[in-house]
Amino acid sequence: MKEYTFDPSIDCARALDKADELAAFRNEFYIKAERIYLDGNSLGLLSKRAEQSLLDVLDTWKEYGIDGWTEGPNPWFYLSEQLGEKMAPLVGAKPEEVIVTGSTSVNLHQVVSTFYQPNGKKTKILADELNFPSDIYVMQSQLQAKGYDPDEHLVRVKSRDGRFIEEEDIIAAMTDEIALIVLPSVLYRSGQILDMKRLTKEAHDRNILIGFDCCHSVGAIPHSFDEWGVDFAVWCNYKYVNAGPGGVGAIYVNQKHFQKVPGLTGWFSSSKEKQFDMEHVLTPAITAGAFQIGTPHLLSMAPLIGSLEIFAEAGIDRLRSKSLHLTSFMLFLIEHELEGMGFTVGNSHLDERRGGHVFLEHAEAARICKALKENGVIPDFRAPNGIRLAPMALYNTYEEVWHAVQILAKIMKEEQYKKFENKRGVVA
Ligand SMILES: *Cc1c(COP(=O)(O)O)cnc(C)c1O
Repeated sequence: MKEYTFDPSIDCARALDKADELAAFRNEFYIKAERIYLDGNSLGLLSKRAEQSLLDVLDTWKEYGIDGWTEGPNPWFYLSEQLGEKMAPLVGAKPEEVIVTGSTSVNLHQVVSTFYQPNGKKTKILADELNFPSDIYVMQSQLQAKGYDPDEHLVRVKSRDGRFIEEEDIIAAMTDEIALIVLPSVLYRSGQILDMKRLTKEAHDRNILIGFDCCHSVGAIPHSFDEWGVDFAVWCNYKYVNAGPGGVGAIYVNQKHFQKVPGLTGWFSSSKEKQFDMEHVLTPAITAGAFQIGTPHLLSMAPLIGSLEIFAEAGIDRLRSKSLHLTSFMLFLIEHELEGMGFTVGNSHLDERRGGHVFLEHAEAARICKALKENGVIPDFRAPNGIRLAPMALYNTYEEVWHAVQILAKIMKEEQYKKFENKRGVVA
């Protein structure tokens, strides 16, 4: 772990906040005074700028009606491409390689249906056994759609310890039967960052296409997709990117694949000039825009306009650096305050292997989360025994991290969690 100098006093937390050059961004967000929100990795908070950009799109509708497609401050017809351009720096891509569209699961259907082209012996998709369920369901149904039995053709790399996936194990599974690899950039439970650069090189050395689900990394850590040569990626924008519940997601397609016809097409896959010719022969865009299907969900996309302005000002490198500092401070306090209380830290202590959240494991995790909520701390429970705590660089403070750990220690000492059932809620 990189050496940080912390001490467990609240003064240390306050000094860290004072020295924080990103501190002012907190004022951009709607923060509840009585609440410490540590769930920005499930649903980021609303910023005033995201709210304003949503209101602006509504206003365009009010003012222009149908002409809002081509008039007003953000003509709707070009917005998906424009926002893709603005997201490109977050993933290390060229402006035309990113399109804001769809949702992660649908976008994954799109890229798998495009890039999974079984051929001869190469018929299998490689994933991992700690993968997010939706991604697994997508790959299973895409295998079925092409006539392959998912039980046999979806290979899941095993975890040695139930937390992490070793890159060596993934590489060892890159056999000559693998046609496509789809992996998370950051594992949603342990927060492990996979070495995307190394895996991409190893996959390409074996003539295998590779792409990543970056739901837990976009807005949290920098990416260099072009430099690494990644073939494709998908992600959502309602987690670290704060674009609102159900906010529109995004797809990255490496420029070298622009000639490929997407697996799922619709009229928004068209080149912009041709779309309204209404021909029955599709002329796909020669950009990631070809991977769109239908009319963009403007109202679910609008908050992203304001949110990305904030990211452009804060800069992903500064955000990453503060995020690491926040999670390191939290881990330091956990070690200091929660010893002997039955917690296991389930994330990596190494900066280069740790995403934006801390993952605590505890047999009573479900009801500890309920007690945290009752005390104003918003965590994220992941069955069966995981507590995710995600201090956000844009809007959480070191002092909040300090209080959250103090509250957790108090809950354990007073056994407050015992008054709740150790069962998850409907959404957890
Ligand atoms: C959040 C998340 C999803 C969610 O997909 P939706 O289509 O937006 O519901 C999928 N995969 C991963 C890895 C996620 O973290």
